[in-house]
Amino acid sequence: MPEKYGIIGYPLMHSLSPFMHNRYAYYMGQKESYEAFEILPERLSEDIKKLHDESVLGLNVTIPYKQKILNCICDIDECAKKIGAVNTLKYTDAGYVGYNTDAEGLKLSLMEAGISLKDKDVLILGAGGAARAAAYVSSVSGCSSISVLNRTLEKAILLAEDFEADAFDYSSLNKISKPEYIVFQTTSVGMYPDVNAMLPVPESLYSRFSAGIEVIYNPKETAFINSVSKTGAKIINGFSMLVNQALASRLIWHPEQTIPGEIRRKVYNECSDYSWS
Ligand code: NAP
Repeated sequence: MPEKYGIIGYPLMHSLSPFMHNRYAYYMGQKESYEAFEILPERLSEDIKKLHDESVLGLNVTIPYKQKILNCICDIDECAKKIGAVNTLKYTDAGYVGYNTDAEGLKLSLMEAGISLKDKDVLILGAGGAARAAAYVSSVSGCSSISVLNRTLEKAILLAEDFEADAFDYSSLNKISKPEYIVFQTTSVGMYPDVNAMLPVPESLYSRFSAGIEVIYNPKETAFINSVSKTGAKIINGFSMLVNQALASRLIWHPEQTIPGEIRRKVYNECSDYSWS
């Protein structure tokens, strides 16, 4: 019997994870099945127990369960606890242990692009789950400061309290005053199908970006990426984080493995070419 893995969420129509993990398994010569398990909100704890009873060895967790799953796990690792969200589960006899690999995915993407956060000023657009992963990476990478800019100031303040950051909303843009920023775009603005939507960030702020890291992967080139590329700043797209957070999940499930760069590049290219239709 192949080992069983999968992703839980609701709805799950547009998840790239089964394709991506099946490609990783294929190139690594592993016999495993990776399925999408769409779970209704009212059945979450019951269905997680069922997947555990069926010895599903690893799961990815996506919207809307990254926080709700905290009630269904037997333990949580330190990074996931600090971020306050879980996107990866690993089977143990006692139940599933929760991890967060969004942060590790971002860290790997930054390394691959040759971008260091050490002593840099970081600006995070958004204050949701992806923003918390970006704040975590920034703080453990020794950045100089973190500024969080969010539509809802209260959420920016909550994040700022946890990561010693400064919180802003769009009415206080003039207070974002460092000469240069590495910027994480972590909002869902610009995501398919509303691909032309843009945050109310003025051109003058874009000109102070030394690098722009986008978390949205559909479309491949977002309005944010297009605007940053006009300034000549370095860019990381959302596919990079997606492929790397999947890789980090696989290393939690198979700690003995090393996944060669060549395989990572192949999976990245195949995901980039993936047809969403
Ligand atoms: P989330 O927790 O729901 O947070 C969404 C954020 O977007 C919030 O800060 C929200 O602001 C902001 N936002 C939404 N609509 C807005 C609007 N019209 N104007 C201004 N701000 C708006 O979501 P998440 O889990 O962080 O995910 C965010 C994005 O990251 C999604 O597109 C997701 O697919 C992507 N993601 C990608 C990866 C990857 O591997 N590439 C991993 C994780 C997530 P308010 O607080 O004001 O509502």
